[in-house]
Amino acid sequence: MDSQKQFKRRFSFEFFPPKTDQGKEKLQTVRDQLATVDPDFFSVTFGAGGSTRDRTIDTVLDLHRQGISTAPHLSCVGATRDSIAELLDLYKENGIQRIVALRGDLPSGMGASGELRYANELVSFIREHSGDTFNIEVAAYPEFHPQARNAEDDLKNFARKVEAGANSAITQYFFNPDSYFYFIDRLEKMGVTIPVVPGIMPIVNFSSLVRFSDMCGAEIPRWIRKQLEAYGDDSESIRKFGEDMITEMCQKLLDAGAPGLHFYTLNQSTTSVNIWNNLGLGLRNKIAF
Ligand code: FAD
Repeated sequence: MDSQKQFKRRFSFEFFPPKTDQGKEKLQTVRDQLATVDPDFFSVTFGAGGSTRDRTIDTVLDLHRQGISTAPHLSCVGATRDSIAELLDLYKENGIQRIVALRGDLPSGMGASGELRYANELVSFIREHSGDTFNIEVAAYPEFHPQARNAEDDLKNFARKVEAGANSAITQYFFNPDSYFYFIDRLEKMGVTIPVVPGIMPIVNFSSLVRFSDMCGAEIPRWIRKQLEAYGDDSESIRKFGEDMITEMCQKLLDAGAPGLHFYTLNQSTTSVNIWNNLGLGLRNKIAF
């Protein structure tokens, strides 16, 4: 973990672009609550294939204008170089300085894979088109990407994104900190030393967590699964257990030298803020819920 200790810690919150006016209003409230702890940036997801293109742009620009630096996610699957260049220019004109560059996953049956096949090609294209305008974040998978041929290849493919010009990475969520420590160890042995920030998934709903984890290849350890199952519909116990468990994991990660945390908020603030407060990260701005 030594490579990670040299980096300044940074904290960020991820949102998805809301679909409805009600969703927009809710996100505004969530944004205001999370802004109180003064994060380094917000980020906004992008539907692969461009399904959320306009909503992502609107949400990013709106959040950015309100004073907290905001990073759009940008996926290349199904896109042309021209359409990506257009987005990059728009973000540059609006003062955006950070981009989360991804391949994305096209929904099944949705068109061709596009002009850029992998995220390393997207990173190269961003550097080619926009030079050093953007700080580029890429995705990392401590438990390995579900489509990777093997662990070794996945690490090499991660290194390609760094060689192409990525500045830092955010991980897929995980519940076993050892997978993160091992991943960093393997990167260090390969001489890859960019900040790799753990992505943190709050636990709020068991069935959706299982569904999503199966899809993205994140393992829910048996003891956590069993405990959550035992709570059944008792959402208050699930929330409390999740917050305690995630707080403990975050503390372990930070103590070991992780260079910050990135919260997948699911457009909710309570759990992220409770974990934040449990960790004592922003006592000056502590907010009560
Ligand atoms: P890549 O780095 O391209 O890797 C994809 C797979 O291909 C891996 O198995 C890798 O080993 C392999 N590979 C990579 N390069 C090569 C190569 N040159 N040759 C052969 N094989 C290669 N998805 C969205 O649609 N929208 C989002 O906003 C979004 N945000 C995310 C944010 C974070 C922090 C993370 C961790 C994931 C996010 N995702 C998002 C999900 C992501 O798009 C998927 O996990 C997708 O399957 C892989 O994207 P990637 O950028 O990691 O792809």
